[in-house]
Amino acid sequence: MPIQKVPLPVQFVGGICYRQKMGRLVDITGKRFGRLVVVRRDGGARHGASWLCACDCGNSATVIGQNLKSGNTSSCGCASRDAVVLRNVTHGKSRHPLYRCWKNMRQRCMNRRRPDYHCYGGRGIRVCERWDSFANFLEDVSALGPRPNGWTIDRIDNDGDYKPGNVKWSTRGEQSRNRRPSAEWRHAD
Ligand SMILES: [Zn+2]
Repeated sequence: MPIQKVPLPVQFVGGICYRQKMGRLVDITGKRFGRLVVVRRDGGARHGASWLCACDCGNSATVIGQNLKSGNTSSCGCASRDAVVLRNVTHGKSRHPLYRCWKNMRQRCMNRRRPDYHCYGGRGIRVCERWDSFANFLEDVSALGPRPNGWTIDRIDNDGDYKPGNVKWSTRGEQSRNRRPSAEWRHAD
C-alpha cells in the first residue's frame, strides 16, 4: 500500500521545536489516535519523530508524533474529506445529484404512504444502518462508478436489503421487473 504523505503543520511551542522541549522519544507503536493506529517509527528529526500510521479507511499516513498526541491529526485525511462531504450535504443536500436517489431509496423502505411501499419496506426490505448517513451512502456507492444518467439504485439480490455489496445502478425498466409483487411504478429515482 503506498504511503500517503499528509502535509502537517510544524509544531512550535514557545518558539522552540517541540521535540527539543519534550526531550526523549516515547514509543507510541500500537497506540490509537482517532482513526490512526501507529505501525512504526518512520524517521523525522527536526520537528520530532514521525510515525507510520494505518488509518481505519485502509490508507496509511506518516504523521509527526506531536500532531498525533495533540489531536491535530486523527486520520489519513479521510476524516476531513468526510466532514467536507457532510457539510456539503447539510448545506446543499438537495443539490447533490445522488441525494434524491438516497432519499427515495429510504422512502421506498420507510414511508408507508408510498404506493410502492409494499414492494419494499412492506415486504421487509430495509436500508442498512450505515446508510442512515448520506455521506456513508455516497462513499459506498462511489465504488459502483458514476450513475448513468436517469438510472436508479437497485438491489442485486431482490430479497436483500439496500446495503453495500447488494446494490447496482439499473434502468428504471430493470428495476420495475425486479420488484415483487409487480405494481405500478411512479417513484423511480
Ligand atoms: Zn483514512
